[in-house]
Amino acid sequence: MNDPLPIDRAARAEKIIASAHHYKVCEGCDSIVSERVATCPNCYGYRFDEESENVIAQARLLGAREQRSVTAQDLL
Ligand SMILES: [Zn+2]
Repeated sequence: MNDPLPIDRAARAEKIIASAHHYKVCEGCDSIVSERVATCPNCYGYRFDEESENVIAQARLLGAREQRSVTAQDLL
């Protein structure tokens, strides 16, 4: 989860939305993680929301948030 460019984040969000059933949302930190993980790699939480609708909503939210937080470094 360390993509260097904002465009990659947007592409990743699109990919998640396209195959939401392969992902789930961590209830601890709202990260989107692979459905295969047993614990969240970010916060080590073990409670997940696996509803595709909620994964899609969260992917859209994260994509929008990351676009708004573009820094000078991102524009280089
Ligand atoms: Zn988490």
